[in-house]
Amino acid sequence: MPFCATTCDFCAFYQEAPRRADLLRYLDGIERELDQWRAEWDARSDFLPALDAQAGLTVFFGGGTPGLLAAPDLARLCQAVRERAPGPIAEWTVEMAPSTVKADKVAAMREAGVNRISMGVQSFDESLLEKLGRRHSPKQVQQAYETLRAGGCDNVNLDLIFAVPGQTRAQWAEDMRRAIELQPEHLSTYCLTFEEDTKLWVKLSKGEFKRDVAQEAELYQFTWETLGAAGYPQYEVSNFARPGYACAHNVSTWHMGQWRGVGPSAASQWRNWRWSNPSDLNRWLDGLDQRTPETLPETAVDVVPLSPELLAADALIFGLRLNEGVDLAALRARFPSADWASYDALWAELLAESLVERQGDTLRLTDEGRMLADAVGGRILEAEV
Ligand code: SF4
Repeated sequence: MPFCATTCDFCAFYQEAPRRADLLRYLDGIERELDQWRAEWDARSDFLPALDAQAGLTVFFGGGTPGLLAAPDLARLCQAVRERAPGPIAEWTVEMAPSTVKADKVAAMREAGVNRISMGVQSFDESLLEKLGRRHSPKQVQQAYETLRAGGCDNVNLDLIFAVPGQTRAQWAEDMRRAIELQPEHLSTYCLTFEEDTKLWVKLSKGEFKRDVAQEAELYQFTWETLGAAGYPQYEVSNFARPGYACAHNVSTWHMGQWRGVGPSAASQWRNWRWSNPSDLNRWLDGLDQRTPETLPETAVDVVPLSPELLAADALIFGLRLNEGVDLAALRARFPSADWASYDALWAELLAESLVERQGDTLRLTDEGRMLADAVGGRILEAEV
């Protein structure tokens, strides 16, 4: 849902100003793209095992700011999905900014079957929100959370950001304390990244502040210790949940399942291809006109043919982000043509460096390895080529 009221200073996602005419074109396009997808699904019975292999059907509305839509538009969007879903939807998440949470929207989504809300809080500290360019206040977060709970939302995630320039350990401790106090089911905490061409990146480039990598690592360790002790064990590099509340949609992507992205800039991994829709409303709509059931739209970008070897490498990279680790025997059986001898040599190196630990066929990152998860991922890619 590519519309945002304003642009946050750290954000590099594609977004447009929410003009009414564009919103209506967007909703029409979503219905058309979902129709095309459903026709493909119905025409090809071999799609069905792809769904069965996952933990059921999951839906995730991300953005942009899906909560910007008015209640009737949200209801239309939800209905478009529900009418075309080929089975019951096990988990249905909608991302909402605190300033967009209203009782009528919550009611419309609940009625349609939405059963999980992810709210972009980022911080409870006014000065840090200001630095991130977020346009909500700590009071709005509290009100939005109360509206969600009053509306019957019993599975809520809060997104937080840490390592904001100038943020102290005490400020981060207070943000976590405020989040825990609300007792959500799930918490996502992201170390601030400086994406190219964002306002924060420009400030960093101009030397207005410096990154402190040692402090980032220290705050990260503090995070998993604090949240774990508060009943939110870490289950992925950036994610913490009460038992039973891990995000099934995201877990499926980390396990290299299949998913279909709908809307401008949405990414898909489907059958033999990975691709993204163009990050442009008009080009996305043009692509829908050119589509035939057996081809990708001509406007598709970042198209990657999926080989078992590539999927094996990605299943290792993303699977290791999960605290439960990866089951090497299961992956070997799923992707027998991957170069498992090279990987075995790599595991020996990583074990010697104390970056992974192994119990039988289960391989996991150690605490030290989790700090260097991206570097470990890079070495898996090197072993794959
Ligand atoms: S609301 Fe979300 S998508 Fe929109 S600018 Fe802020 S971070 Fe980016």
